[in-house]
Amino acid sequence: MAKTLSGRRAVAAAPKIPFPTRKVPRERALRELAILEQSYPHAVTALLYRSPFELLVAVILSAQCTDVRVNLTTPHLFAEYPTPEKLAAAKPEDIEPIVKSCGFFRMKAKNIVNAARAIVEVHGGRVPDDREALESLPGVGRKTASVVLAAAFSEPEFAVDTHVFRVAHRLGLTTGNTPRQVEDDVVKLLPREKVGDAHHWLILHGRALCKAPVPLCKQCPVNELCPSASIVARQLRAKRRS
Ligand code: SF4
Repeated sequence: MAKTLSGRRAVAAAPKIPFPTRKVPRERALRELAILEQSYPHAVTALLYRSPFELLVAVILSAQCTDVRVNLTTPHLFAEYPTPEKLAAAKPEDIEPIVKSCGFFRMKAKNIVNAARAIVEVHGGRVPDDREALESLPGVGRKTASVVLAAAFSEPEFAVDTHVFRVAHRLGLTTGNTPRQVEDDVVKLLPREKVGDAHHWLILHGRALCKAPVPLCKQCPVNELCPSASIVARQLRAKRRS
């Protein structure tokens, strides 16, 4: 990679890959999901945690940050602040240096301290196990609540992050414009007991093969069913010709 005059690294422009404009038929969608289930049988979050409280904090820290980075950060954080009570008694400025490498550290430090305070003051020191209460905590939106409900409380919840949004579109499982529309479309395809796991199938597939700039369709186990495989091939051919 060459350096530009400004000293920044120049990244080769990847072709923009449009999403399919129509959903695939239900039967085909079910076959796609069955292949992903077989391909990613270990459907668990990569975040390390020992309690719903630790999971909640880890998920808040993971916004715009990798799970690997969060896992390098949380052992130190939980050694110093092992309970909601200890974290609730801290000042955000005490937490900032510990979470700095996760990005947006001032906002994240404030959110996890304020979430801990709400857990202690309103919920008796326990992370609530219902969506409305979770989403009322600082720094917790629908996606974070879904991850906590699915992983910590085994609820049938399907969290839509950037990988899930992209992979669901590329597979033609949805044409939804919002995470909530994508969630509703994918959940309709799944039996209740598989809803929580399906989130991991799509995330793992997005990280491993169905990558954001250029998906690795030739290696993909679902490429004969995926409506994006031909779109990707066409875009790459056009890119080579240009
Ligand atoms: S065939 Fe390509 S676009 Fe479709 S799911 Fe696989 S990697 Fe993604």
